Amino acid sequence: MSLRQRAKELDAADPLAHLRTQFAIPAGKVYLDGNSLGPLAHPVRERMQQVLAEQWGEDLIESWNKHSWIDLPQRSAARLAHLLGTQADQVLCCDSISVNLFKVLTSALELQHRTEPTRNVVLSTQDNFPTDLYMVQGVSEFLGQHACQLQLVEEEQLLASLSEEIAVVLVTEVNFRSGRRLDIEKLCQHAHQLGILVIVDLAHSAGSVAVELERWQVDFAVGCTYKYLNGGPGAPAFLYCAKRHLEQNLKQPLQGWMGHAEPFAFTPDYVPAEGIQRFLSGTPSILAMTAVDAALDLFAGVDMQQLHQKALAVADFFAEALENSRWATEFTRLTPTQHSERGSQLSYSHPHAYAICQALIARGVIADFRAPSYLRLGFTPLYLGFEDIVNAFEALDQVLSNAEHLDPKWQKLQGKVT
Ligand SMILES: *Cc1c(COP(=O)(O)O)cnc(C)c1O
Repeated sequence: MSLRQRAKELDAADPLAHLRTQFAIPAGKVYLDGNSLGPLAHPVRERMQQVLAEQWGEDLIESWNKHSWIDLPQRSAARLAHLLGTQADQVLCCDSISVNLFKVLTSALELQHRTEPTRNVVLSTQDNFPTDLYMVQGVSEFLGQHACQLQLVEEEQLLASLSEEIAVVLVTEVNFRSGRRLDIEKLCQHAHQLGILVIVDLAHSAGSVAVELERWQVDFAVGCTYKYLNGGPGAPAFLYCAKRHLEQNLKQPLQGWMGHAEPFAFTPDYVPAEGIQRFLSGTPSILAMTAVDAALDLFAGVDMQQLHQKALAVADFFAEALENSRWATEFTRLTPTQHSERGSQLSYSHPHAYAICQALIARGVIADFRAPSYLRLGFTPLYLGFEDIVNAFEALDQVLSNAEHLDPKWQKLQGKVT
């Protein structure tokens, strides 16, 4: 049976296939970059238009109450909670990952310093997403090394590097470059035995893998909504704090009026709101969060195990096509093969990765490049089917057969690579 015929059969048997009609994927394109920026969904466009016209446009400031804008961060959080294996009272939708990381990191350090002021190490991985490391460096420069000291190890060394000097371990569950997934439950077990708090970055997990924050006993987490959750460019991120910590009169330094117990009392002294609400700082972006909220509707009723299984199947379908082709030896696969050890992307190293990526984009296959030499493909099964993969693979085959990637115009990195 041909690859395309097999793909057609797999698509016909796919219980999630109907979801793709919800998305505005431009005709003729195969979108393999949903792990960087999710596409626009039709219900998101409709809700945005409605909020602009009927709420902001007509009801103006009354909308804060009339349309419950004031509760939107918590309402969006409730939808997120179901994707993260937790409850709404432990999740908040706000700010960016970077800012949320600042809040939970300083919170976690303060919590540790109450009983052990000398625990100062924040352990992370060499290959963590840079903004995560920059935030730790910033906190460290600001509070001093005695309060916060960053230590970096390879992912493989994480468990062996845990010790009683470590206050916090900060990891990204699914590595943005390699697509490797860490065993967070095991990490939490080992860390907690040594009194270490665990912060997990879920940027490449939320909406991609079945996250189980409570079952894994994660202490704090952050994540974004513009990748797998399709909330739109720069959409507000989220943060998670376990209830057991919230109940300890937790502090965070970005004390804004929206995190105050009574924001509209306008009193000069800060009194934190009860629970997770205290992690809010300033006024939420209602328009941006409207898009997130509408995009999360698409996950209602979707089983995350099933969704991830499909992502793995689609990715395997691509990998198999590549591995059975005459191009197999040119690519070095970075992503583990074991299903339990990966998220929903595949990364390959190739000396011409950048040029291949550009040539693919010219053919309507939107892939992604990561320095220095990685071709990164996101398999986002809400809107990708098996036949898309055949189209993507055929485009790759054409690019390489015609040596399109050797065109001089793609030999130099151009513009901003995002
Ligand atoms: C995309 C991504 C971020 C982005 O952080 P922002 O502050 O939301 O821009 C952070 N961490 C990881 C692991 C990411 O993949």
